[in-house]
Amino acid sequence: MSIRPYRDIQRRKSRRIMVGDVPVGGDSPITVQTMTNTLTSDAGATIRQIEACVEAGADIVRVSCPDAESTGALKEIVRASPVPIVADIHFHYRRAIEAAEAGAACLRINPGNIGSAAKVREVVQAARDHGCSMRIGVNAGSLERHLLEKYGEPCPEAMVESALEHARILEDNDFHDFKISVKASDVFLAVAAYQGLADATDYPLHIGITEAGGLRAGTVKSSIGMGMLLWSGIGDTIRVSLSSDPVDEVKVGFDMLKSLNLRHRGVNVISCPSCARQQFDVIETVQALEERLSHITTPMTLSVIGCVVNGPGEARETDLGLTGGGKGVHQVYVAGVPHHRLRDASVIDHLVEMVEKKAAEIEAEREAGTDAGPDAGADAGPDAETDTPQGAKLAKSVAAAS
Ligand code: SF4
Repeated sequence: MSIRPYRDIQRRKSRRIMVGDVPVGGDSPITVQTMTNTLTSDAGATIRQIEACVEAGADIVRVSCPDAESTGALKEIVRASPVPIVADIHFHYRRAIEAAEAGAACLRINPGNIGSAAKVREVVQAARDHGCSMRIGVNAGSLERHLLEKYGEPCPEAMVESALEHARILEDNDFHDFKISVKASDVFLAVAAYQGLADATDYPLHIGITEAGGLRAGTVKSSIGMGMLLWSGIGDTIRVSLSSDPVDEVKVGFDMLKSLNLRHRGVNVISCPSCARQQFDVIETVQALEERLSHITTPMTLSVIGCVVNGPGEARETDLGLTGGGKGVHQVYVAGVPHHRLRDASVIDHLVEMVEKKAAEIEAEREAGTDAGPDAGADAGPDAETDTPQGAKLAKSVAAAS
């Protein structure tokens, strides 16, 4: 138990599978996935989109393979992709075999939809031969007829039963390297289905609220449903489904995990909503900082607070902090303590510079296997006014260098 037990999340114990070289389940970090929306047959466009998603933090990317042209392009896509590729197959077993042969790391396919037992065996053999794992993906919108007749409508029990039926087919073929999803666009249904499945099996779970909607409403809906699951320890890999750029899905997914302390990547900005007390334009500053710091992958925290009401308190908990002060002079904090003052005009450039330096220092120290000191990477810029001897020294050294 940590010193702040109210922040502890006990993850459900799941078995671990591999998606290419990325572990999913067990004690592995919860991975973030998305799906391309280019034509898979257009390998160039698909590769560009995959690269953009990976830059945003995607660990795994799925591409749909509705036809032979798509699986034909898959080899080139897999070769160029920096992360493992999941091939999304709906019914056609030949596409699944082609995808496995083309190097897909995982097949998203429901074995119950493949057809005869012989075809299932062929797909399982191809997966085994090529080191593919699988994902069983149950969707409330496409439940099997016999389950709809049994239960009357899509419900959590029907979704769990469907997932277990598909799982049994793979188990009967002595194949166990798979994860499962039970998605629904209805938050209540999806959450209850995942809870039921989490109790029924130890396979890793891919969680998501399907067809969640556009960027804003879909983010809210996904955060409620997936947040509820993640908070209760359920979920080994996630995909946020938005009618938006796949890059947005990755960013939202990562922010979700960051909010729950489940993953750390990049700058976690803590900022106030601003009000009449703000001493600089908080909204504009935060927007600019988020944009200019999106390339930073080193985990760190930055507070950007409009005035002294909450600024010092928030800064105490962050690596770097800015609190608005009077007459256009603001306070910069490093490792929770006041470090130097800063004039209005230079706020954004100055903070970007500080974050970049701090990130470089953290990375260098990580490689050397040591911790960053309290003032690591905290050089003040030429516009800084210092209020500690150490800050004065730093400010002088940077001013001299510039
Ligand atoms: S921290 Fe200050 S500026 Fe920001 S919302 Fe609160 S009172 Fe307003």
